[in-house]
Amino acid sequence: MDSTFRRTPDIHLQDLIKGLLQGNRGFLSRAITLVESKRADDRRLSAELIDKILTESQKTLRIGITGVPGVGKSTFIEAFGKMLTALGKKVAVLSVDPSSNRTKGSILGDKTRMDELSKDANAYIRPSASGSNLGGVASSTRETILLCEAAGFDVIIIETVGVGQSETVVKDMVDYFLLLMLAGGGDELQGIKRGIMEMADHILINKADEDNVKAARRAKEDYKNAVHLFPANEADWVVPVSLCSALEKTGIDQVWKEIERYEQHSRSNGWFIENRKRQVLKWFHERIHARLEDSFYAKKDIKEKIKEREELISSQKISVRKAVEELFS
Ligand code: GDP
Repeated sequence: MDSTFRRTPDIHLQDLIKGLLQGNRGFLSRAITLVESKRADDRRLSAELIDKILTESQKTLRIGITGVPGVGKSTFIEAFGKMLTALGKKVAVLSVDPSSNRTKGSILGDKTRMDELSKDANAYIRPSASGSNLGGVASSTRETILLCEAAGFDVIIIETVGVGQSETVVKDMVDYFLLLMLAGGGDELQGIKRGIMEMADHILINKADEDNVKAARRAKEDYKNAVHLFPANEADWVVPVSLCSALEKTGIDQVWKEIERYEQHSRSNGWFIENRKRQVLKWFHERIHARLEDSFYAKKDIKEKIKEREELISSQKISVRKAVEELFS
């Protein structure tokens, strides 16, 4: 973001919004960079920006995709995304990547990934925001979703690696949650926890091709049986289990059919709107907590004060209650 942009926010913010609403990608990228920024003046501008572009984005679809590294997420998103753009959809691909802080890169940072989709005029791929906490990254991803929707993207795909906490975070920002699995790996080997399987709106067994077809079909039956034992979900939706080969591009259109069926189902029973409402309220409360925490830790000499009290508490010279009271007084 250039400095003139910061210096004369009013004029430029209006230009930014105009460009964004016209679907200009350059402006979209700049708007995302702005909401990801942690500078105080950028935060103020971001709040204004998001507030101005907030519209009824109920016509869009937000799809979360997870699965262990190597399961074929990017290959699938490439094939799925290309199929959607061929149907006339505008597709944005975002990611929530808890490892991006450690590795510096991001799961979408690798240029060889989604090569074709990245060249598609109707697709927009944005690497993960970096940040020291998942909550902050999640919050800017949510705002990025809103920006993409304002720019005219109607299907938003949010990818995450299946390693634990980030799935819950992504589940809370999407309408449909797709879990990619492999046949024959065994759930434990695949590192997928039961809780994550229960979050899924669709279990998709990838790499159902070549020598793997038989095993994939068996796995499909196993997962189908497992799904029946899960507690009923709030969408009143029977989770489909299907096969695909992202490489051979088979079973991809079936996924879209299921998503359309889900959309129809959840819109007609009211869950679609209810879920979005719950998600945004949960986000609101999470942000309140995060702001409170930030302002507490921003207090003068707070680290030293905590350290002092840790010692006093350990040697039983002060109670926890008293120590906390003192820190807040
Ligand atoms: P990600 O880490 O989950 O994003 O996985 P990738 O999309 O990078 O795929 C990991 C590897 O699996 C790559 O070598 C892909 O070519 C391969 N792969 C992905 N999908 C399929 C598939 O449907 N069939 C087969 N045989 N290989 C696949």
